[in-house]
Amino acid sequence: MPILISTQKQMLDMRRSVNECYICGENIKGKGQGWRSQVISEHVVPRTLLGKVPIKPAEAWSVVLYVHKECEKNHKNHRDQLMKILQMLGHQSTDDWSKEDIGLLLSEFDIGTQTHDGSKLIHSISGVGSAMLAPVLWARGMHATLYGKALPRGMSFITQPPVPIWNHTDEDVAEGLAAYEIRRNDLLGFLRVAIHTKHVDEIRAWGGKLLYQCAWRRAFLGTNGGWGCTWALEFPGVHEWAMTARNVDSPWHGYYEIDDLPPNAAVVGQTETDQYNRYVEASHKGL
Ligand SMILES: [Zn+2]
Repeated sequence: MPILISTQKQMLDMRRSVNECYICGENIKGKGQGWRSQVISEHVVPRTLLGKVPIKPAEAWSVVLYVHKECEKNHKNHRDQLMKILQMLGHQSTDDWSKEDIGLLLSEFDIGTQTHDGSKLIHSISGVGSAMLAPVLWARGMHATLYGKALPRGMSFITQPPVPIWNHTDEDVAEGLAAYEIRRNDLLGFLRVAIHTKHVDEIRAWGGKLLYQCAWRRAFLGTNGGWGCTWALEFPGVHEWAMTARNVDSPWHGYYEIDDLPPNAAVVGQTETDQYNRYVEASHKGL
């Protein structure tokens, strides 16, 4: 049975049972003396990105875990702020930007405009390395929520935003776009199989507007075997960002690898792939 977390009670139970800080992977001290001074509860996906509170009180909960105060201060705040800026760039008016937002934007990112294929204007954002670590933390928090354990500090991973962003290591815009598309098709294609065959683990929070889905397969990046998790994440504003930028709907998506498969994790294997391929074939024939 795949794992589904879709009620506030399930979320609270998980929050209580996770004994590690998902940011650093170290233990969270037992609830003894001094506990409160070192630990806070933290929105895995920042509250500022979630928008309006759901109207039904039963749905007004989000993915919140305990973390070390130090970890939150040293890593999460800054990255989440960068991410907020990046998403605002996509679809919001800059009227409500604070001076601090604009300062961070100018100091951290490199924004340029180029033409692609001689006609279409493409806005490129580079220097996003630091901001891209924010969604890795989100995936770490979602993993801890689903499986009860923090991820190891070092691991191989891929993270992709809803819109293509490329690095200075890419040859040019066209190459960056192509590489993005290849990764996107692999990861989201794999998740389609997982969702269709119901081999997908899920968190549905914030009235269904915060949705995390993931599924596992044998690792392909590392050299030591192990398992790889492919994930997708949506929250308010993600769809609009993708549509404004490229008119192609896409969630945040990514992949990471660890040695051992978490207990009860949803695995997609050959059986599920075959089942999905038969379904696609049948629908092409109009059966
Ligand atoms: Zn920590």
